[in-house]
Order: sequence, then C-alpha cells, then structure tokens
Amino acid sequence: MAGSKFSYVRNFELPDPLLPDTYIVFRLDGHSFHRFSDVHGFVKPNDKRALELMDQAALKLMEEYRDIVLAFGESDEYSFLLRRSASLYNRRETKIVTTLTSFFTSSYVFMWHKYFPDTPLQYPPSFDGRIVLYPREQHIRDYFSWRQADTHINNLYNTVFWALVQQGGLTTTDAHGTLRGTVSKQKHEILFTRFQINYNEVDERYRKGSVIVREEVRPTSSRASIDAVTGENAEESTVPDRLQPKKKKSKDKAPTQMTLLHCDIIKDDFWIARPEILA
Ligand code: ATP
Ligand code: ATP
Ligand code: MG
Ligand code: MG
Ligand code: MG
Ligand code: MG
Repeated sequence: MAGSKFSYVRNFELPDPLLPDTYIVFRLDGHSFHRFSDVHGFVKPNDKRALELMDQAALKLMEEYRDIVLAFGESDEYSFLLRRSASLYNRRETKIVTTLTSFFTSSYVFMWHKYFPDTPLQYPPSFDGRIVLYPREQHIRDYFSWRQADTHINNLYNTVFWALVQQGGLTTTDAHGTLRGTVSKQKHEILFTRFQINYNEVDERYRKGSVIVREEVRPTSSRASIDAVTGENAEESTVPDRLQPKKKKSKDKAPTQMTLLHCDIIKDDFWIARPEILA
C-alpha cells in the first residue's frame, strides 16, 4: 500500500527484534500493589485468593501462548520462560511485552470477581512488563533460583513480621525494629519460641511460590485431567458449538497441559525430570 503523503512518519518506527536462539524471560509485576493490596483488603502476609488469581491469569496466558514453557509466580509478580526457538510476533520485543502484559492484566480483571466476590474493584490495576534475554541454560537455572530464593527471603520476613504485629501486638515500626539485622536462623527462632510456628510447616504455596509447567499430554490422558489442573472450563458448556470461539488448528503440535506446583526449582531434581523445558 502506497499510503498518503503522511505515511513517511512510519519510517520513524524502529524495529526491535529480540536476538534469535536465546531464551526469552518475560516478567511482569503489579504496579503499586502495596497500595492495591491495602485498598482491597488483602490478608497479610499472604492473601491466598490474590495468589490464586495471579496463578489463573498466568494459566490463561499460557493457554494463549504456547511458546511459554515454564512460569514462576510470587506476590504480585510472574515470570514466564519462552522457548529459545520462539518465533512469536517475529520476536518483536514491544509487541510481545505489551500484548502479554495486557492479556495478563485483562485476565486478572476478568476473573477478579471469582476470587473476590465480596470486594468490588476500586480502580483498574495495572502491571509493568519486561523482557530479558539469556543465552545459556545456566542463566535460566539461576534466574528461576533467584526468584525462588527471593520468595523464601520475603516470605520468612513477612511471616515473622506479621506474627509480631498480629499475634505479638507490636506496632509495624517496632516489628521492623525487632527484625533489623536478624539472620534467617533468628527469624525461625522468634517464630517458634514466641508463636509456636514451625516455619517449615507453613504452606508450600507461600514458601516456594507457584510453578507452572507445560507438559505434553500422553495420548491416553483424558480431557478431564486438563480441566482438573487449570480449574477452567470444567463444566459442560451450555453455549452452542457455532457460538464457541474457534479452536486454533494445531496439526503438528502435540496437545499440552499445564500443571501448577509449589515445589523446589533451585535443586537439580525439578530440571532433570523435565529436560524439555530447556530444550
Ligand atoms: P512497584 O510498582 O514498584 O512494583 P509495589 O507496591 O507493587 O510497587 P512490590 O515490591 O511489587 O511493590 O510488592 C508488592 C506488594 O504487594 C507486597 O509488598 C505486598 O504488600 C503486596 N501483595 C502482593 N500480593 C500480595 C498477596 N497475595 N497477599 C498480601 N499482600 C500482597
Ligand atoms: P494487529 O494485532 O496486528 O494489530 P489487527 O487485526 O488488530 O491486528 P489493525 O490494523 O490494528 O489489525 O486493525 C484493527 C481492525 O479492528 C480494523 O481493521 C477493524 O477491522 C477492526 N476495528 C477496530 N475498531 C473498530 C471499530 N470501532 N469498528 C469496527 N471495526 C473496528
Ligand atoms: Mg517492584
Ligand atoms: Mg509491584
Ligand atoms: Mg512485586
Ligand atoms: Mg490491532
């Protein structure tokens, strides 16, 4: 198309291709969720509904984008690994970042009412997004270890902090003061001696974060197992077939399913059991 005399302005748009054959890590994070969680009455230190909503938005994104093979979520953030051969949107960075961030955000809003039926949204939440490229497998292992180590550090701190405030009756300032300079072992001790909480018995969801893996469905697996995992589309649909959104044809692609776990991804076991993630 030749276009108008104005169309030269398009030439100012610069291409932004991502380096080929490198792992793409896409991470998004809630914008000002400290405030968002206050305004919407999130339970401290961990609001399970909010974490489950994040997981469901991540699952929706993975259903939509098959290049995502692994995801890790904690608090108001989620990281997604796209296979190194991904050719999504010709690897245009802005296109990928904006479309995925927007899809995740609208899914979060779309499903909000399921997880917070009694809490209307007070304002539209937003997320920032970024892409980082990593050339080597070890970088990916270290990236996900970095995020899970962060989950552990934050959750241990927050668990003691809120025990001091909620059960110990301390002000937030005093609780921060009590914890200043303490090492991990001392935090475990405070939890156990003052509040009889064995940190290792805290729900794995909080200690390990959320891990979502895409795995090939073996031919014998039934549709029911997919639904059990995502928790979505489990009911019989009452919408007539002709009104159902068209399923994309994936001739040569094996069907996959997503599994949500709360497990260690720092040690080797997780990766040895799933060599296809870094293939
Ligand atoms: P920024 O815009 O820079 O990301 P932020 O306020 O979102 O600012 P973060 O470092 O991302 O800061 O931290 C997110 C905050 O959101 C947490 O510190 C916590 O207060 C709150 N939060 C997020 N998820 C939950 C949850 N499931 N339960 C309780 N609080 C949560
Ligand atoms: P891409 O993902 O590459 O942007 P696209 O299908 O969104 O693909 P666009 O070039 O952005 O393509 O064009 C948007 C299209 O959406 C229009 O061509 C038109 O068909 C449709 N559309 C958008 N807004 C309206 C509207 N208000 N009324 C009718 N059609 C609309
Ligand atoms: Mg931040
Ligand atoms: Mg945030
Ligand atoms: Mg955050
Ligand atoms: Mg468009």
